[in-house]
Amino acid sequence: MVDPADSFDDFLPQALQRCSPSPLVDIGANLTHASFSSDLESVLLRARAANVTTLILTGTDREHAEQAVALAERYPGLYATAGVHPHDASQWNASQAQAMSDLHRDPSVVAVGECGLDFNRNFSTPDEQEHAFEAQLGLAAESGLPLFLHERDAGKRMHEMLHTWRDDINDAVVHCFTADRDTLHGYLDLDLHIGLTGWLCDERRGHHLRELVSDIPLTRLMVETDCPYLLPRNLPAKLKGRRHEPALLPWIVREIAHWRGMPEAELAEATTATARAFFRLASTNHALTPECEEH
Ligand SMILES: [Zn+2]
Repeated sequence: MVDPADSFDDFLPQALQRCSPSPLVDIGANLTHASFSSDLESVLLRARAANVTTLILTGTDREHAEQAVALAERYPGLYATAGVHPHDASQWNASQAQAMSDLHRDPSVVAVGECGLDFNRNFSTPDEQEHAFEAQLGLAAESGLPLFLHERDAGKRMHEMLHTWRDDINDAVVHCFTADRDTLHGYLDLDLHIGLTGWLCDERRGHHLRELVSDIPLTRLMVETDCPYLLPRNLPAKLKGRRHEPALLPWIVREIAHWRGMPEAELAEATTATARAFFRLASTNHALTPECEEH
């Protein structure tokens, strides 16, 4: 058993315990990552204390999507996505397609993905990536579920493929958006949603996003940690282990609100409303109950 009091002090120093003024939805949490296997319940407790009440667990392949569904069935406020990440596109085959299609019928699964194109690392060849992505666009069209998209250094091709499929698919979010203004406006012109992570808190590579965040309409903007990856670099204290987690989402929202020049509470409220509509989440009584006082 985990002692919640220990978990707060050991894993999240007091200086990092920040409660969002309005409930948040973390639309990209990789909680099936091995780094969360020993203390998941503490991670969920800390999320609740930070007023991060709803988590969308990213399913990046069959195994992780099935694990995400199992967690969503076990804990209130958790939902899953099911897809094959572009890194793993070389594994795509008929049995994967069938498994995904079955998962998309599960009531805990709220999006098709993570899927898309990553020409930065090319762990699968671009051809394999396009093939697996095209097949998953087809599954999204079939199921009517929204899409959770990954794109890195592949904005042009991503835009072309989505343009072709736009009338057949439903809503789609480009998660962890890090590209330039033209790419952003190309996506917005396709009526896509945008997910922002702590990338913009990174003074080495996230500067350009600061001028872009105001271009994203609030009805298109959602927030995510992409944990355990992408620990924000604007945190006021060191974090042992450097593992990012949902309880840190309010720091990202605060940073985005700053660069948009708007109150944090308003941004939190707007991104939550957008996420609830996008993922078609039921009323808040399925959410983790926030434990902190609203400011
Ligand atoms: Zn991704």
